[in-house]
Amino acid sequence: MDKKIFMDYLPQELEEFGIKPKFRVKQLYNWVYRKYVDDFEKMSNLPKDLREKLKEEFIINPLELLNHEVSKDKTEKFLFKLRDNHTIEVVLIKMKDERIENGKKKEAKYTVCVSTQVGCKVGCAFCLTAKGGFVRNLSAGEIVAQVWFMKKFKGFDENKALNVVYMGMGEPLDNYENLVKAIKIIAHPDGLNISPKRQTISTSGIAPKIKRLGEENLGVNLAISLHAVDDKLREELIPMNKAYNIKSVIDAVREFPIDKRKKVMFEYLVIKDVNDDLESAKKLVKLLNGIPSKVNLIYFNPYPGSPYKRPDEETMKKFQRYLLDKGITCTIRESKGIDISAACGQLREKKLKNET
Ligand code: SAH
Ligand code: SF4
Repeated sequence: MDKKIFMDYLPQELEEFGIKPKFRVKQLYNWVYRKYVDDFEKMSNLPKDLREKLKEEFIINPLELLNHEVSKDKTEKFLFKLRDNHTIEVVLIKMKDERIENGKKKEAKYTVCVSTQVGCKVGCAFCLTAKGGFVRNLSAGEIVAQVWFMKKFKGFDENKALNVVYMGMGEPLDNYENLVKAIKIIAHPDGLNISPKRQTISTSGIAPKIKRLGEENLGVNLAISLHAVDDKLREELIPMNKAYNIKSVIDAVREFPIDKRKKVMFEYLVIKDVNDDLESAKKLVKLLNGIPSKVNLIYFNPYPGSPYKRPDEETMKKFQRYLLDKGITCTIRESKGIDISAACGQLREKKLKNET
């Protein structure tokens, strides 16, 4: 436990630990993030004494794989153990199969959905992660390692495009410093080299942190878990709405720097007979007026004992139609990996139950 985690550090911080000259740090980053080597001994172009020093001070990968499930739609879910025995889950979603486009072979496309905390403080009424309460923040390296692991595990080439979404367990903006550091490490050109443009933060709406993130101008994409269009219902679903109401969230989004070709994603979890009516769709259109936005409708995914129900397909489509007719891009998120319960905290929950 007392060893530091290598993946917690940006190159300049490694230099500050006395790893010099600069090109050594670059070599290290290449070994770890390009060749996926997690043993200092194997880094053959580093001097032996440096390798030994590193081995004494650092571990490279803080995650231990406990379980791996593959769903019928090829969504994969991974359960990892951290060094203090807490567990987190990571979901790998195949977005597009290998295909031929305009006579050219195109690679399969993947998105990795990473966790930022063990548990979550926000306590949303519909979310299983919330039920276990909050345990702790993940360190930057524990976040980075989730992405690193996927590339290593799948044997991805170093240039392989992989998108990152911070949509697993936890509220990313509640772990602000570590999140921002992880984004920078993941984006580093000597390392995983996944540009912030290919990283998306999903937040339940901590307005001042959205503002701060905007000021930092990292170039990341933003997704807002809106789920409701009036404050009373939103408070019921997301208690934090009492502190940061819909207006404050929308105001923060309006100030957020958005790439001209991009849009802010609004996630809207559709719950049967709660927020699935066209009146809500109408209010949603009004609310988003003037923001380059796309809406992602998500089927509520029930779990044993959940107070809400999944909406039917017809209602979903009607809601979507309404938004499309008003000129808003709107997709319906298929519940990926539903047969392995890949939504938010469900595998971990299953595992915990089995143990007790
Ligand atoms: N805390 C952040 C990111 C993690 S939650 C946030 O809330 O945005 C990731 C996503 O899982 C959210 O969009 C949330 O709406 C969704 N989610 C949580 N519980 C769900 C359930 N039971 N069914 C479907 N989606 C769920
Ligand atoms: Fe936390 Fe997001 Fe779950 Fe809400 S939906 S409890 S913010 S992880």
